[in-house]
Amino acid sequence: MWRGVAAVRLLRPGGARAASGTAAVQLRQRLEKELEEIRGAGTWKNERVIASRQGPHLRLTGGGAGAYRAGGRGGGKRRGGALGFFPRCDTCPSLSISFSLSLPGILNFCANNYLGLSSHPEVIRAAVEALEKFGAGLSSVRFICGTQSIHKDLEEKIARFHQREDAILYASCFDANAGIFEALLTPEDAVLSDELNHASIIDGIRLCKANKYRYKHMDMQDLEAKLQEAQKHRLRLVATDGAFSMDGDIAPLREICQLAQKYNALVFIDECHATGFLGPNGRGTDELLGVMDKVTIINSTLGKALGGAAGGYTTGPKPLIDLLRQRSRPYLFSNSLPPAVVGCASKALDLLMESNAIAQSMAAKTQRFRSKMTAAGFTISGKDHPICPVMLGDARLAAVMAEDMLNRGIYVIGFSYPVVPKGKARIRVQISAVHSDEDIDRCVEAFTEVGRKHGALP
Ligand code: PLP
Repeated sequence: MWRGVAAVRLLRPGGARAASGTAAVQLRQRLEKELEEIRGAGTWKNERVIASRQGPHLRLTGGGAGAYRAGGRGGGKRRGGALGFFPRCDTCPSLSISFSLSLPGILNFCANNYLGLSSHPEVIRAAVEALEKFGAGLSSVRFICGTQSIHKDLEEKIARFHQREDAILYASCFDANAGIFEALLTPEDAVLSDELNHASIIDGIRLCKANKYRYKHMDMQDLEAKLQEAQKHRLRLVATDGAFSMDGDIAPLREICQLAQKYNALVFIDECHATGFLGPNGRGTDELLGVMDKVTIINSTLGKALGGAAGGYTTGPKPLIDLLRQRSRPYLFSNSLPPAVVGCASKALDLLMESNAIAQSMAAKTQRFRSKMTAAGFTISGKDHPICPVMLGDARLAAVMAEDMLNRGIYVIGFSYPVVPKGKARIRVQISAVHSDEDIDRCVEAFTEVGRKHGALP
């Protein structure tokens, strides 16, 4: 059959191309125009290419600033940055959870690798063992023939970690957020969502048929007004990020839970930027704020602090999890998590449940960076969170400073409109438990130099 198709193409190459050609040409023109608009707006996202494992010290392909511009102007061209090439730094020298990498290279301050577990030797070993024992993948969704003992074990472990009744795995937290609202809420119900919630929550809510209310960011007066309006519906669900990834601010969960109690609503939190490190035992925002028994549903990721591979989950009451297994579309119609990925997350949770030392060390590192940067004259948004947005205001300043930081060996990213509001451009710094004090001090020194050079500091 394939030979036949090829033969037809060979006989009528021009004809076949011409038939689909007009639409293809139109599409290409439309896409090129759209891409040009993105470039023109200055919002093109370049992807730097990492040539080592994820960690606090990295090797980038081509070295420093502007090393690899995939898709941007001059797409695919490599040019050596000021730092050139660095020795490999992708081995982990210690088996202990409090390991630290001290090899030279680019200092990485922009991963969600909050606990440094992405390249932890025990996490990697667990992945290899799972791969060998359970294979590369399931070639199936969970309910057909895609559930192995490690999937069940990990779900049980997640529920135990969060002190909930049950948990369900997804391929990502994006999927968990896409799947929960539609499965749970009907046109009789209402969902009340913080205006700055993550895109995946917004998309998940779009997919459901419930009545939608959007309250002003962390504004409890507005939430209360919306809850009053929503009293006419059968069920009310307040949905919020536990920690907001652009501002590093933490949702006022105590107040949210009080309002939820007053107006007979449920609380849902997305804990992607909290699980593993916020709270005395790293359980998350609900532990930090003492409301573990008041939050009904938690969605979170395995792709950040918990080993950094991939995957997401919902944890909460057993009947809800049972319902999601029956109704949630990203769960029902997408492949099972690969065993190696399950192995990583499972080991990360073991390490966290063995000791809370790493979760606690996060807080000290975050405090060091925030206080030193503030003393240097910078404004850092948010509070007590390892996401430390260095507020600069001007989009160009943020971009130029981030580039210059990389020239000094510090990898940070500038964010500007439309990712953040106009006039609120910033460089987002993310602290990891495996940054050493020296790493943090080097970052602050580089910021001070670069800030002075570009007029962000006097
Ligand atoms: N929710 C929040 C708040 C996030 O920051 C992210 C990832 O960026 C997600 C959900 C999606 O997580 P995942 O990468 O597991 O799909």
